[in-house]
Amino acid sequence: MTEAPSERTRVKRRHDRGKYDAETVHGILDAMPICSVGYVFKGTPYVTPTLQWREDDHIYWHGSSASRMLETCVDADVCVTVTMIDAMVMARSAFNHSCNYRSVMVMGKAYIIKDPAEKEQHLKAFTEKLFPGRWDILRPVTAKELKATMMLGLSLDEASAKIRNGPPGDDEEDYALPIWAGLIPIRTETLASTPDARNLPGLSPPAHVTSFKMG
Ligand SMILES: Cc1cc2nc3c(=O)[nH]c(=O)nc-3n(C[C@H](O)[C@H](O)[C@H](O)COP(=O)(O)OP(=O)(O)OC[C@H]3O[C@@H](n4cnc5c(N)ncnc54)[C@H](O)[C@@H]3O)c2cc1C
Repeated sequence: MTEAPSERTRVKRRHDRGKYDAETVHGILDAMPICSVGYVFKGTPYVTPTLQWREDDHIYWHGSSASRMLETCVDADVCVTVTMIDAMVMARSAFNHSCNYRSVMVMGKAYIIKDPAEKEQHLKAFTEKLFPGRWDILRPVTAKELKATMMLGLSLDEASAKIRNGPPGDDEEDYALPIWAGLIPIRTETLASTPDARNLPGLSPPAHVTSFKMG
């Protein structure tokens, strides 16, 4: 196990589940675009769900230039989490029920990307990461759209991962009880795409649609 990058990112509770290496952290961030951004606005903590994407050792998120969340996060301390649930863990006591999960927590100061060309590059990276080959077939992004979009970045310098993976951990004496225990695996499934009613005739879904997967 690699060392925590800082004291505040060190997993203390069940530290055996903590990981800090780039491969693990990147793997979780790349597998799940949904994140929760934690920040404080006028003394109240908010946790806002949104989409993130990773490029090298930074994550990015974006939205309307009028977004309070984005505006508040500029140059502010934030905490971003990404979570995936892999199974419900059924134990022989209520206390020992759990779930198998993979999660990442990133802390640091968010920064704004102002330059329109840079913003466009990141939007391309975001689109291509989810749907390889889509950017070039799209109607090009306009200056007005770039202006209407606020984009933030966050370094992965202070990131931790926590992973639970395994069977229930019951108290030794409880294994003698006639109670079913085990895992209920959970996965995020992509279903068949549905075409928009206003698609031009003869269009079929490209490979980045039919092969799309998450989780
Ligand atoms: C789907 C899911 C369900 C969970 N259910 C429960 C539950 O029911 N009860 C419960 O107590 N805990 C649950 N956890 C674990 C929970 O996220 C915390 O790790 C745990 O509560 C310990 O919190 P703490 O503040 O004491 O951690 P500490 O170990 O004190 O946190 C120190 C540092 O460790 C890192 N860290 C802590 N937790 C995580 C994490 N999950 N992912 C990445 N880095 C982390 C952060 O950098 C944090 O600053 C769940 C996690 C997931 C993903």
